[in-house]
Amino acid sequence: MKTVKAKLFLSYVGGIFIILSLVAIAAVYFFDINQRANISKMLYSTLAQIQTHILEDKSLEKIDENIELHSQFLIIVQDDEVAFTSQSSHSTQKILQKLDFYDDDFYEEFHEMLEEQEHEGLIYADEYVFVVDEFEQNGDIKVFLGVNQQYFNKSMELIYTSIILFILFIFTALCVIGYFLISRTIKPLKLILEEVETLQNKPDLSQRLQEIKTDDEFEKLIISFNKMLERIENSVENIKQFSSDASHELRTPLTIIQGEIELLDLENCSLKELKSAIVKIDSEQKKLQEIIKNFLLLSRLEKEISSANTSFLDVCILEVVEKNLLAIESKNLELILDVDNELEVKFDEKYLYIVLENLLTNAIKYTHQGYIKIEAKKDKDVIALKVEDSGVGLKEDEIDKVFERFYRVDYARSDMKEGLGLGLSIVKKICDKFSCALHVSSKFGKGSCFALYFKT
Ligand code: ADP
Repeated sequence: MKTVKAKLFLSYVGGIFIILSLVAIAAVYFFDINQRANISKMLYSTLAQIQTHILEDKSLEKIDENIELHSQFLIIVQDDEVAFTSQSSHSTQKILQKLDFYDDDFYEEFHEMLEEQEHEGLIYADEYVFVVDEFEQNGDIKVFLGVNQQYFNKSMELIYTSIILFILFIFTALCVIGYFLISRTIKPLKLILEEVETLQNKPDLSQRLQEIKTDDEFEKLIISFNKMLERIENSVENIKQFSSDASHELRTPLTIIQGEIELLDLENCSLKELKSAIVKIDSEQKKLQEIIKNFLLLSRLEKEISSANTSFLDVCILEVVEKNLLAIESKNLELILDVDNELEVKFDEKYLYIVLENLLTNAIKYTHQGYIKIEAKKDKDVIALKVEDSGVGLKEDEIDKVFERFYRVDYARSDMKEGLGLGLSIVKKICDKFSCALHVSSKFGKGSCFALYFKT
């Protein structure tokens, strides 16, 4: 079994086969019951006519002139002698034998038959179905009226054959219609498969599946597949961009280290020159370590994050502030804290710490005088955190770019020159993972405000 079409068709054929078989069985059963009812109706109607005939004391010999017997046989026995028979004498003998007429205990059996046929029942003896009656009219009259089942079996056989032929016809017709419908329904799948196979062999990731208007799951499948292709294309582009940026960023400190080593004339250099070179090399290797640490963090963000965890924002803020207190004091900045208690947010503590650390260290780095304000408040279902500073601020065109990887505003001041341009891109990525909205407002030369809106 290889194709979906074949599987569907086989299930369909199996289904209709079972249904039609049940219909055939029900039809045969129904016809059989109907046949028996008809026989019973016919026999009792004729018996009623015979009864009238006998009770009116008419001649028994000519009973068949007044009563239409059709396919029925009629034997009338008067005082143990056959007074009338619609059959040949041989057949009459045969029938009477089957009815045990010649047995000694026939009279008992006859009364049993009469009891048996109470409520218009029928008596069966081999191939015969019959009814009996008894009259006390000019002696003892016993009536045997019946039909040979074989006669009816023939007509039933005809009905059964008709049913089977009819069912076979319906079955074939349904198979053809089913095959046609299944082929038509499955057709888009074939087209999709062909297109996917063609796309597979093309290196161009910008190719998309052609949309088919089927207004069903196939159309949705194509749309989803195209969306997935778009995501893959974006991811690949991102990875390419990231590798090119990363190699560029890694190359800069490595070039500086290499330059320092090449310039150093170990034979003739003074201790001061040696120390200065080592300090530079150490600073660059620290930069390398920082870059690698951030790369690892970025790659871990893709898989490690679980948004089921919660943490307390107020507790995290205090820890981060405590850690950076010396840096704030050393720059003589005023620290304003306006933080509510018990601010539980749907955010993993480890990543919340990274976000807060980045925002606060940036605020310290890019503020030379004035204040840093941290505000965290709960408003209905949302907890808002604002990290505001009176620092250098950002120009309008820089605001959107600060979340791009490796983006840095070019500053002349040496303490602001330090940085990789990765911090805010990591913050953004983490916030996206925890469905936390992030907004920046800034005025060049006046200060910036980074606002986060957490789910509770
Ligand atoms: P960096 O390591 O350079 O600080 P970030 O990704 O953290 O990298 O920041 C990207 C850029 O955004 C920085 O170079 C800086 O120009 C700007 N920036 C970030 N925070 C602030 C702030 N609080 N005030 C002004 N500019 C900021």
